[in-house]
Amino acid sequence: MKRHHNMPAAERRAQLALYKDAALLPPAEVPLPEPYGRPINKLGPAQDGFTCSSSSSSSSGGGGGGGTSTCGFASTSRGWMQKHVNQQQGQEQEQERKDSGTPD
Ligand SMILES: [Zn+2]
Repeated sequence: MKRHHNMPAAERRAQLALYKDAALLPPAEVPLPEPYGRPINKLGPAQDGFTCSSSSSSSSGGGGGGGTSTCGFASTSRGWMQKHVNQQQGQEQEQERKDSGTPD
């Protein structure tokens, strides 16, 4: 990535011209690689990482079908993972508070 940032403007334009006809998907529509698929070698060697294995039971709210599904959130950053877990626990606690009922 960094390499490209040091590229002279003319060269950069030439590169862009190469790809101007390429069909680009909007970011939201770009398919993600499957979670436990093969490592993408072009991204460099596979790294150790963390995977969130917490399962959220989606019994409330309808939508149906699933039952339990694992979160599957993955990150190579321990800090980021902790943030995610904290967030998730926060949500669960909030959910429990709602479930276990304030009488109305
Ligand atoms: Zn998670």
